[in-house]
Amino acid sequence: MSVHHRKDIQSAISTVLPEIVAIRHHLHRNPEISDHEEKTSAYVAEMLRSFGMEDIQTNVGGYGIIANLHGTAPKQQGRTIAIRADMDALPIQEESDLPYRSTVPGVMHACGHDGHTSTLLGTVAVLSKLREQISGTVRFVFQPAEETVGGAARMVDAGALEGVESIIALHGWPGLKPGQIGVRSGAMMASSDTFDIVIKGKGVHAAMPQGGVDPVFVGAHLVLALQSLSSREIAPTDPVVVTISQIHTGTAYNVIPEIATLKGTVRCLSRKVREEMPEKMERIIRGICDAFRAEYSFRYRHGVGVTVNDGTVTEMITNIGNRLLGSENVVELEVPSMGAEDFSVYLEHIPGMMFRLGVGANKPNLHNPSYDFGDEAIPVGIEMFAESVLEFFGR
Ligand SMILES: [Zn+2]
Ligand SMILES: [Zn+2]
Repeated sequence: MSVHHRKDIQSAISTVLPEIVAIRHHLHRNPEISDHEEKTSAYVAEMLRSFGMEDIQTNVGGYGIIANLHGTAPKQQGRTIAIRADMDALPIQEESDLPYRSTVPGVMHACGHDGHTSTLLGTVAVLSKLREQISGTVRFVFQPAEETVGGAARMVDAGALEGVESIIALHGWPGLKPGQIGVRSGAMMASSDTFDIVIKGKGVHAAMPQGGVDPVFVGAHLVLALQSLSSREIAPTDPVVVTISQIHTGTAYNVIPEIATLKGTVRCLSRKVREEMPEKMERIIRGICDAFRAEYSFRYRHGVGVTVNDGTVTEMITNIGNRLLGSENVVELEVPSMGAEDFSVYLEHIPGMMFRLGVGANKPNLHNPSYDFGDEAIPVGIEMFAESVLEFFGR
């Protein structure tokens, strides 16, 4: 990467920045929840055209958009790198007094996807001025329905990754300052699955338990026994969370009920451990239910997978961060988050990386009614993305 590129990128950023900030404010004012991003998507398409993009597909996997920027530099034609942003907001009433606060009651950009979308549009605006330095294709992926988990899989099914070698993304991160990024190779965020266990006993008078099968008693054993997976069966170096978050049963003081329902979530940081969880859980459920003469049904639903950052792509992003921001502002994340992110779906198909983009050390947390991505981090995100693209093709 030459200094020449960096100056070109920076001057292009300062030219487009006021417009990109206005775009973010527009998006923040007009949030739409998952799978209802109709106006957002139309607006993004309009902006893409205004930046000179022609190869645009709309309504991909819902309200998703794929836009391809074809570089005109001669060498290494045929390679493609993708950058992804998510566009959906959350069903939360905004409690900020920002001048551009949400105008939609009960809906707000509390996860900062307005920032992700505008940063990616800014990257489009910048790179479209540098076509002659790009020796390949940049695919911009604007994804719907991240919060409800499903948008990414539909985008992939619709061909978003066809011909793509690598994919990158960012998530705005309170806790890091603007001008800082957080990086981690390997598992970055957890998988998130849910399960339902129905224990079928035999209802009877509470004073005569010998005549029935008590699903409350069986359920209590199950709550404890399922914890043995993380403590006794899976290596402590492979973090896994099994949380029973709901127990529903019973209607009276003097009745042993017929049925108890247990629901919960499983979080893993290893794809292998996650794969084995349904079978391991069912073995315990079957064993406990057999032992106490109960029947059961068990449903395990796969939500979103482990977000696993590729080592090579992470190294590239880390090096770019060191160069642009200084190594003191590239924070190596010691531990992954047990939260989940559907960017993992792309990473199950091709190597890639999501980094955290600092938006402010003292901001409210993600999904908080006062959260705001802010404007300060936008140029940092654009520069990271633009440099990554040029670096990728220069390799
Ligand atoms: Zn979120
Ligand atoms: Zn998010």
